[in-house]
Amino acid sequence: MVSRVIPVDPFDLVIFGGTGDLARRKILPGLYRRYQAGQMPEEARIIAAARSDHDDAEFRDIARAAIEEFIPEGKRDAASLDEFIERLSYVAIDATGDDGWAPLSEKMREGMIRAFYFSVAPSLFGPIAERLHQHGIAGPDSRIVVEKPFGRDLASARKLNQTLAQHFDETQIYRIDHYLGKETVQNLMAVRFGNVLFEPLWNAQYVDHIQITVAETVGVDGRGAYYDKSGAMRDMVQNHLMQLLCLIAMEPPSRFDPDAVRDEKLKVIRALEPVEPYQIVRGQYEAGGGQPSYRDHAENPRSLTESFVAMKINVSNWRWAGTPFYLRTGKRLKARTSEIAVVFKDAPHSIFGAEAGRHRNILTIRLQPNEGMMLGVTIKEPGPGGMRLVDVPLDMTFADALGPEAEDVPDAYERLIMDVIRGNQTLFMRGDEVEAAWAWTDPIIQAWEERDDAPKPYDPGTSGPEDAQMLMHREGRRWREIRD
Ligand code: NAP
Repeated sequence: MVSRVIPVDPFDLVIFGGTGDLARRKILPGLYRRYQAGQMPEEARIIAAARSDHDDAEFRDIARAAIEEFIPEGKRDAASLDEFIERLSYVAIDATGDDGWAPLSEKMREGMIRAFYFSVAPSLFGPIAERLHQHGIAGPDSRIVVEKPFGRDLASARKLNQTLAQHFDETQIYRIDHYLGKETVQNLMAVRFGNVLFEPLWNAQYVDHIQITVAETVGVDGRGAYYDKSGAMRDMVQNHLMQLLCLIAMEPPSRFDPDAVRDEKLKVIRALEPVEPYQIVRGQYEAGGGQPSYRDHAENPRSLTESFVAMKINVSNWRWAGTPFYLRTGKRLKARTSEIAVVFKDAPHSIFGAEAGRHRNILTIRLQPNEGMMLGVTIKEPGPGGMRLVDVPLDMTFADALGPEAEDVPDAYERLIMDVIRGNQTLFMRGDEVEAAWAWTDPIIQAWEERDDAPKPYDPGTSGPEDAQMLMHREGRRWREIRD
């Protein structure tokens, strides 16, 4: 099966923070892969901007080293890498000063799409937006890409939206949530809205509950100081898990277009009930396996920041009344996995008797590792011996179904950057969505802060604090096992 790659129009992409960690790990390797795939046109140019003094040659060495580090040897070739590197240049700019903007302006070509990736600390988003405007570098057709975190509460997100809105129209602003760029996440929409099978069952009448798990094995390590001001709720739930919940819970949009999709997601966020304290478990990892505890990582012996959170959320609308969503995310857990499980209800009556046991259909949507979907169905166990039932997976792992090319699906960042160039905002968060998500999150965090709520300790390599299990057990449900 041959996938079609349609080249995008020629562009000038400026990466502010082009020498930083994100640029080196994701953005530059991603752009190289799109070049290799024939999606980035010959005329495209990438300009990195950061404070340090580098000339083009030095930056190209940085970019080459990054690509060699983050793309396996078998997946790159010298000729295309040389060609790609030639398309890179560098400008030294202090985002908060006046130097460097004139040289950047001179580099920009007429007649090209202009995109500006803000891969810098959020405090610099405003100053960059302002200067791009002041120096006449960005015009009404330019696009800006804004990284996370987008604010740390409703007030700061609103302020950031207002600052960006002074210089850019909403149609020019691309707020990244890289979870939305994942192949499976988009496939979730294809499966829901491209088939008649699922949608009739996709409601409280047939779905018992939904679980969303994003588990990491790493701790906060070198990011301790940053993370300690954030925590799992701000860092993961308000954005990534909330976006996944929206895609599962939303009504079918009338069209697959940016505002139709985002309107539906916004309605979901607005339908979330406030979460009561007993519906949330916060956790913090202890030392173990030769690794320090969260508090040591954060260099804050009295830290009350959570590295784990599990919660039950009710979506208050006709479709979902009575079907809870359980969300869970944490660091230093037993495996690295991101998964959504739609757990359907039991058949209304078992004709096979009690000895056949309890069987449920579960649709599992796996974001990592091994992106794919699996539908658990109940069949008869083969052989004599009566009607014994067994659950087997109908496996929709893309690589198996679509051939080896499906294994090589673009990374989320690659896809999203190409969407920016195409001017397609469907997979980016709109300003009102981000604010609505903070409006829901803020009271939860404020309640913790007011009560000096201490997270429950948990051992590394586990599924989190015991109380998180209880969150489900007391309602006769259980979490799916966290495994690779
Ligand atoms: P980083 O490694 O600290 O890099 C920051 C970049 O910004 C460097 O290129 C730095 O170069 C440049 N910079 C710093 N101050 C500047 C200034 N005043 N003017 C111009 N350039 C300046 O940060 P990062 O990890 O790449 O993160 C970048 C953004 O992406 C942040 O918003 C972060 O929250 C977000 N993000 C990162 C990741 C990740 O995995 N790294 C994941 C999700 C989101 P100079 O020091 O030479 O100026």
